Amino acid sequence: MSLPASTAPKKVNLRRPDIMEAVQAQVLSHYRSELVERIRANGHVLSAGDLTIKLAKEFGFCYGVERAIDLAYAARKSFPPDKPIFLLGEIIHNPEVNDQIRNLGIKTISNKPTDEEMNQLRSDDVVIIPAFGTEVATRRKLEEKGCMLVDTTCGDVMSVWKRVRQYSKEAVTSIIHGKAKHEETKATTSQATAYGTGHYLVVFTLKETDYVCDYILKGGDKADFLEKFKGAYSPGFDPDVHLQAVGVANQTTMLRGETEDVQRRLRTVMIQKYGESEIDRHFRFFDTICGATQDRQDALGKLLRDPLDLLIVIGGYNSSNTSHLAEMGEAKLPTYFIKNAAKMEPDKIVHYDQHKHTEIESLNWLPKGKITVGITAGASCPNNLIEDTIRRLFELRGISVQHLLANG
Ligand code: SF4
Repeated sequence: MSLPASTAPKKVNLRRPDIMEAVQAQVLSHYRSELVERIRANGHVLSAGDLTIKLAKEFGFCYGVERAIDLAYAARKSFPPDKPIFLLGEIIHNPEVNDQIRNLGIKTISNKPTDEEMNQLRSDDVVIIPAFGTEVATRRKLEEKGCMLVDTTCGDVMSVWKRVRQYSKEAVTSIIHGKAKHEETKATTSQATAYGTGHYLVVFTLKETDYVCDYILKGGDKADFLEKFKGAYSPGFDPDVHLQAVGVANQTTMLRGETEDVQRRLRTVMIQKYGESEIDRHFRFFDTICGATQDRQDALGKLLRDPLDLLIVIGGYNSSNTSHLAEMGEAKLPTYFIKNAAKMEPDKIVHYDQHKHTEIESLNWLPKGKITVGITAGASCPNNLIEDTIRRLFELRGISVQHLLANG
């Protein structure tokens, strides 16, 4: 949809070589880790005394996150220091990175600004859109206001939007495998309804998927259906009407195996209902798990085939891709999902329980004697936090990493 000239977004070139050079230096100083680089070069393993740590082959910052951070830093460098710059919510899901962004003087407003916040914005204010994108209505309002948008939406998220828009044009309801309240999924669902009469339904678990499949096949109580999925479907969605042709897409950071199961179950039920020869009219799917999420899940899958005593997963608690790494670990061995090294003490660890949505304490978490600890980190976790975790682990065994490096 094209905008009238007066509301067309203002463009500014942030990627000037001088700016990007300064940005690179600053980003490295904030997030780089020499220790992590050395472990990577050393086959992803570091051993001393009775402790061995093994880092997954792929971990930490993905290309989308790196780009979003670079653009936010570049925005701050491109405009005079007194020019207000606003960020919609969080740039990525990592508290330390968001603190750094605030330290640059970038102000956070809600990811879906209230009317009051919108009224306070002035034409020409700079507004950064985070890596997971923003809802169509929010973007429109900002454009109408005349704000300068620094759009850091990851290309992989935009690929999902494209797919969902296509479904909407073809009167196919988007079934989105994801968390209905996650910013990325909200932005994606807004694409399903923004350019026509499209509908969507968000499913998060296989149990929910089975419920939908059952409804498709046998029908059911519409009121129950709508209550169960409250907040996860488009306005006017009617399960008796809008589940006749469905297209599956997913939040980019879901667990691959689960997303495939969602696709398989819906496809099977559509074949049962309409027959194999009619499947193309009633079912579509497109794999929209991003490459970085896939690489991190694959690398952890390999690491988990090694004998490990425990796994540490580092990342923000609201990070979807990190929570799925923790889920993979939990299925195999004691797994601790922490946001930073301060959570580790000799006799206890404070870690996130994603099923209870809260931090919990585990005692005697670090076994005595010879142990191997696996480590991975989500796509929004910087290397300096991974380094802190590794240092802390060795420190808890009375070993100084500084000493190891000096002798390495
Ligand atoms: S996790 Fe994937 S979709 Fe999200 S920013 Fe990184 S590359 Fe993009």
